[in-house]
Amino acid sequence: MTERRTIGVIGGGIAGLAAAYRLARQGQRVILWERNSYLGGQAAAFPVAGSELEYFYHHLFMNDHDIRELMEELGIGDDLIWLNSSVGFFADGKIYPLQGALDLLRLDFIPLHDRIRIGLVTLYLQKRTNWREFEQITAADWLRRAVGERAFDRVFGAQLRAKFGKRYDQVAMVWFWNKLHLRTQSRTSPLQKEQLGYIRGSWNTLINRLGEAIGENGGEVQVGVGTESIEQNEDGTWQVSTTDSQTVTCDALVATVPSPLLLRLVPNLPEWYQEKLTGAVYQGAVAMILQMSRKLSDIYWLNIGDPSIPFTGVIEHTNFIGPEHYQGNHFLYISKYLDQDHPYLTMSEDDLFDEYVPYLQKINPDFSPDWVSQRWVFRERAAQPIITQNYSERVPEHRTPLHGLYLANSAQIYPEDRGTNYSIRLGNRVARIVQNDIDHGMIGPQKV
Ligand SMILES: Cc1cc2nc3c(=O)[nH]c(=O)nc-3n(C[C@H](O)[C@H](O)[C@H](O)COP(=O)(O)OP(=O)(O)OC[C@H]3O[C@@H](n4cnc5c(N)ncnc54)[C@H](O)[C@@H]3O)c2cc1C
Repeated sequence: MTERRTIGVIGGGIAGLAAAYRLARQGQRVILWERNSYLGGQAAAFPVAGSELEYFYHHLFMNDHDIRELMEELGIGDDLIWLNSSVGFFADGKIYPLQGALDLLRLDFIPLHDRIRIGLVTLYLQKRTNWREFEQITAADWLRRAVGERAFDRVFGAQLRAKFGKRYDQVAMVWFWNKLHLRTQSRTSPLQKEQLGYIRGSWNTLINRLGEAIGENGGEVQVGVGTESIEQNEDGTWQVSTTDSQTVTCDALVATVPSPLLLRLVPNLPEWYQEKLTGAVYQGAVAMILQMSRKLSDIYWLNIGDPSIPFTGVIEHTNFIGPEHYQGNHFLYISKYLDQDHPYLTMSEDDLFDEYVPYLQKINPDFSPDWVSQRWVFRERAAQPIITQNYSERVPEHRTPLHGLYLANSAQIYPEDRGTNYSIRLGNRVARIVQNDIDHGMIGPQKV
């Protein structure tokens, strides 16, 4: 049997938790450090109205198999529930329901032949299965050609601009295709309503169970403890200094932090790998959550196609998981994806709310700030890696060029879009790689 090794995991988001759980199950001595005062990273939830709610809205698609399997394995498979969702598109002062392909024909703010083109292109993309054919072209170029300038501008282009801002025309078609493809698989037929998954009690049900399972398998989870610096010893092991002044020696490290943070932790990475780490620029996200006495609309997921509105989407959580789970309160996220220098990343919560109110009234003229009993704003700088053309050539490897240092973060998810399912897949994969390297004597003090 190979010797038991000490593996440090940096970051207690979903990828770090999954990696730590697998490594602990494989018999390794695992220490996980999470700098926040809670586990779960971007998927974590906080207490609201007798329940818990994610800082950032979360749901699952039918083909999110890795998370389903993990939940089964952890004995919480029954907590994954599937419910009908409702999607809409706001344009020209009106909410257009988008429940199935036929609804595209009702987008009467563009001429009928444009709607038919959009419908046909959507059906075509849903049927394509090989992502490689969409890798070498941007979504803007492909879609403009497919549906024409006007339809692109009002529908697909509006969505790309709302999510990617000034970088909207750099996003690869593979990203856009993947979104449509995934959503198709959450329906049994194009005419059917979409079903989405949610975790009973919030994503914290999974996060807490993973934390427990790491402990049950002999691992250690330190919350509220950041990794301040890491340095490689002469024998190839790693010296970790933490924010609570511990110094720990590890045989290997798995970093699950966003790429810019890894660059800061390990400035001496070889240049070619640094280039890979800077190869995907991240969009940030700001989510304002409103706790309200009534609903804004009947739609769960409302895409904004009105360029005068400064946010990307309105996600009315309690139109998916009913208000009865939250003591009768309605919860709504106002979602905004943005560039790293956008003022919303630093604007005060009050100013941001004042900024949003007139636009919420555009969506529902009856909306009044009096409906809101509480509100919160959460911000994340590494919310969405922007996937550009031919990204498969630039995905950073899990084994970094430094012996015993591994990376698992959302910039390595490709061709799928980032999400908790794929963070679990990353965690599983990096744990397999580390175990393989242990089995081959590549981890642990080396003779120098
Ligand atoms: C607005 C928004 C909506 C989303 N919607 C969905 C959805 O509907 N469905 C879905 O599946 N996914 C969704 N996601 C994506 C999903 O939440 C993420 O892809 C996933 O949680 C990322 O997990 P991770 O572990 O890779 O990274 P993170 O969650 O970012 O975890 C990294 C962790 O590392 C910690 N850390 C950083 N530096 C240090 C350090 N020096 N020392 C110790 N710890 C450190 C951080 O605090 C963090 O907890 C959404 C994300 C956002 C932002």
